[in-house]
Order: sequence, then structure tokens, then C-alpha cells
Amino acid sequence: MSEHLWSGVPRGDSLYDVIVIGSGIGGLTCADLLSKRGRSVLLLERSERLGGCCASYDLNGHKFDVGAIFILYKELYDRFFEMMGLTLDEYVQLDLLDPVYDMRFKDGSSLLLPMDPVESADVISEFAPGDREGWLEFCREMKTVWDAAKVMVDKPFPPLEQFGTPGHLLKTATSLKLMRAIPAILRVITNTQDAVNRRYLRDRRTLTIVSFENLFAGIPADRINGIFAVMSYLSHEGYWYPRGGMGAIPEAMARIARDNGTEIRMNTPVTRIVVENGRAVGVETGEGEIIRARVVLSNASAIPTYLDLVGREHLPARFARAIEKYTLSIPAPMVYFGLSEKPEEIRCHFTVMVPPPEQLNAYWDEYYAEGLMPRMEDLPQGIVCPSITDPTLAPPGKFSLGLLTCGPYHLKYHNWDEYKPEFIEESASHIERAVIPGFREMVQDRDMRTPVDFERELLLPEGSIYGLEMSIPNLGPFRPSWRSPIITNLYLAGASTNPGGGVPLVMVSGINASACIVRDHGW
Ligand SMILES: Cc1cc2nc3c(=O)[nH]c(=O)nc-3n(C[C@H](O)[C@H](O)[C@H](O)COP(=O)(O)OP(=O)(O)OC[C@H]3O[C@@H](n4cnc5c(N)ncnc54)[C@H](O)[C@@H]3O)c2cc1C
Repeated sequence: MSEHLWSGVPRGDSLYDVIVIGSGIGGLTCADLLSKRGRSVLLLERSERLGGCCASYDLNGHKFDVGAIFILYKELYDRFFEMMGLTLDEYVQLDLLDPVYDMRFKDGSSLLLPMDPVESADVISEFAPGDREGWLEFCREMKTVWDAAKVMVDKPFPPLEQFGTPGHLLKTATSLKLMRAIPAILRVITNTQDAVNRRYLRDRRTLTIVSFENLFAGIPADRINGIFAVMSYLSHEGYWYPRGGMGAIPEAMARIARDNGTEIRMNTPVTRIVVENGRAVGVETGEGEIIRARVVLSNASAIPTYLDLVGREHLPARFARAIEKYTLSIPAPMVYFGLSEKPEEIRCHFTVMVPPPEQLNAYWDEYYAEGLMPRMEDLPQGIVCPSITDPTLAPPGKFSLGLLTCGPYHLKYHNWDEYKPEFIEESASHIERAVIPGFREMVQDRDMRTPVDFERELLLPEGSIYGLEMSIPNLGPFRPSWRSPIITNLYLAGASTNPGGGVPLVMVSGINASACIVRDHGW
């Protein structure tokens, strides 16, 4: 079937049940679920690429991930596909990433961290024998907390219309697994992440291993809630990578949506949500076409959804001010290199280069908040090598290497467009000094997405990777909800809504938004 045809609804003056704005994971989740229920769905994506931040990108035959770089919480994907009456394996082939990290420490030492907690304890005890038991205890405690969080994906998933209802939440909240985990949860949430880590571990390098996963939450480990310590354990539950790159996930979801009758139009920006008498009744596209629908679901970030697409004239002033005041999560500049060969120094999918915990904590106030960039050596960074896991992601004999790094949107002494070529060169020199001698000789193709590029390309305010900061004032009831409290028939799904950013959470937001729509409309 052509991308531009949907058999059920003729083009023109048609009235769709649902218009989805954006093909991020949140938008695709809704398109899948609602079209499976027989609803006519039109999905409009402004760019030429599906998947938003979870997409693949081609640089002269080298395939890279635009944003999201791995899959965690695989059980949730399994459950989602089951909800669709399908199995994940039929659509996406996932490879387990083990070892999870090649950790490169500031003192020049390194280690390959296995996925299995006991095997990783063996590796850790080679340089920090005193941390062996503490590491195992840390993993046990975090597993207890994580298992409690996983009650949400316990089989069977409730039917869509029951998802997120008080009954469903009560059943989840009173599950035995959650009850048993309460002491562990309390021990964790009453401290900072730093304090939780130091309760179990002593050695600086072991502490470094558990101190960087919270980075993209945008709050240093000595200030962020201890629950974020769980993030450092999650790699030991399994990180996965899809064959074909992260874009294989949205591609599969779009295929399912189309099979259920969803019409997907690419290169079609929505410029306005049409509001009449306080109700969303359709959208206007960049070409001035007005398309009407019973429900509008925005997968664009909540701030532009309300302030630009709905427009302040339809919002109470207090609501508009509240939307404006949300703090954004941090951006993550990405540098991409196409190499002539595989460097022998690269030993696994991720190579992590982060400073020790105290220096990492200081980075936020001394550099990030000031709009400054430290020396490359002092920046928290990760080398991401998709083609080591899936060689088809580079031209034959060649290799694809990305650098995921940190940097503020507002730079005090640079602007990102001018700084970009220099940043790419500095990154190459840094990789050459720190990890791969002769690296620059291998580089045949190079590119970068700065925070400003992310903003332009994906309409992510300030390039923020999780939409809004994942801090307490932006979580739970404080985060924008799936059902607009102001505009009837407008719903939101995506990183800036509950429960937050990251592919699995965004999928949860899509399930919840769809459940609200189904309940509200008796669908
Ligand atoms: C650099 C980076 C690294 C990351 N790493 C990870 C990771 O390893 N693991 C993980 O789980 N998560 C990661 N994330 C976060 C994760 O990718 C996102 O939280 C998630 O993919 C966001 O999905 P979403 O549904 O909110 O939509 P988005 O991905 O934000 O997509 C929204 C889509 O809507 C489209 N759109 C916006 N406005 C309009 C409009 N007006 N008209 C039409 N279309 C419109 C956009 O073009 C886009 O395609 C990362 C993100 C980034 C940027």
C-alpha cells in the first residue's frame, strides 16, 4: 500500500477519528493501538524520517542512531507487541549487549564490565577487592527496587481501556513484589544517588562505574534522588540493540500501524491545532490544508504543542505561564565518524569515558550552568559503535563510530553553528589521544548534531533529550498529562508527558494516552 493512501477514508473533506502529530515512539504507540481498535488514524510527520529521537541516520553508508542508542526494559516492548496480538521477535531482532561497557578511567586503566552482576564483581575485585561484596549487595538492592518497578509489565497486561484506571493502579500498587520492596525503596529514596552509591562502594573507579548513568536526567548524583541509583544497575538487566539500528523500532511500529489502516504522511508539518469553542477539531498543515478529526493527539513536545500549535489565545494566561516555566532536560550533542576500518582498541558497543564522581558532580555548577565547556578530557562522554554489533551498519570493511557527549544549549563564548566544525575536530583529536592512536587517519566521514540542530530538526525545545527535566517538580502529577485539562479532545503522548523521557517511558505514555482516548470516547 502506498504511504499516502489509506483505504478506509478518502482524502479531502474526510473526518478522521484521530490525527497524530509526530512519528516519535509516543505517536506511533497511539497510532498502533488506536488503529488496531478499528479507528481511522492519520499520522502527520514533519520530517522525512520516522521515529523522532529514536531513528537511524545515514552518513554515506554509515548508519548511526539519531538519539536513543539502546533498548532497556525489553519486557515492556514484549508486552506492547503482545497487546497488538504480535510478538516482538517477528518484527525486530535484538542483540544483547554484553559486555555492557568498556570503562576507560581517568588514570589510564580500563575494564570490560560483563552484564552478569557476579561476573562483573569478579572483574571489579581485580582492582578493588574490598568492593566485591558491596557491589553484589548494591546489585541485589537495586534489583529488588527494579523488580518492584517491573510489576507494571507483569503479565497479563490489562485490556487497553483498563490501563491506568484506579483499579489497575491499585492492583499494581498492592502487588506482593512491590510490598516486599518497600524497605529497599525507602532506603533508596531517602538519600541522594551519591549517598546510596557510597553506602556500598569505596573505590573511586567502582564509584565512577555507578555515577554517570543519571547524567541525562540533568542533575548531579550528589543532588538527584537516590532512586536514580537504579539506573546504574539497569545495564545488568540487559541492554539490547536492534538489527538495523534503533530506527528498526519505529519502522516496525509504522508497519504495524499501516497494516491496521493508519495513513502516514511524511514531510507534513502541522502548523496549528484547530480549536473551536475550546475543542480540538483538527489541524492545519504547512501547506494550509485543514484536516478535521474527532481527536488530536500531539506527540510534539508539550511546550510547542500548547504555546505554538494551540496558541496562547486559546489558553488561560496562568496555564500558558505554567507551561513556559517548565525546566528542560539537558541536550546531548552527538558526533558521528565514518571510519575506513574497525579500530582494534574498540572492544564493545559502548566505551565510557567519564571523570571520577566528585569531578562529575562539579561539572554541573562549574561548567554546565555557566554555559562553559571543559577540556575534552574532562567532559563526560561515550563512544557508541553500532557497527560492532551489527556490521551491516557500515559499508563493507568500514566502521561507524559515534560520540555521545554533554554540553549546554546556551554557550557563553560560542554559538553552536560556528563551534560545530571545531567541536568535531576537537572530538577526533580527543579520541585519538585517549583511546585510538591514529584515529584521525581513519576518519573518512564526519558530522554532528548540536543541541541547536536537535531543536531545529525535531522541534525539541533547546535540544532537550527528555523533553522536560526529570526532576521532582516535573514528574508525576506535575508533568503535562495525556489528556489536556484545557482543550477538549486534545491528548498528548511523548517524553514531555508522564511518566517521562526515554523510549520505554514514552511507550507507556502512548499506552496511557490511548487508554484515555478509548475511555473518553467509548471506543
Ligand atoms: C541524543 C539522545 C540520546 C538518547 N538516548 C536514549 C537511550 O539510549 N535510550 C532511551 O530509551 N532514550 C534515549 N533518548 C530519549 C528518547 O530517544 C526519547 O525520550 C524518545 O525517543 C522521545 O519520543 P517521543 O515520542 O517523545 O517523540 P520524539 O522522538 O520527540 O519525536 C517527535 C516527532 O514529532 C515530530 N513533530 C514535532 N512537531 C511536529 C509538527 N508540528 N508537525 C509534525 N510533526 C512534528 C518530530 O519531527 C518528531 O519526529 C535519547 C534522546 C536523545 C536526543
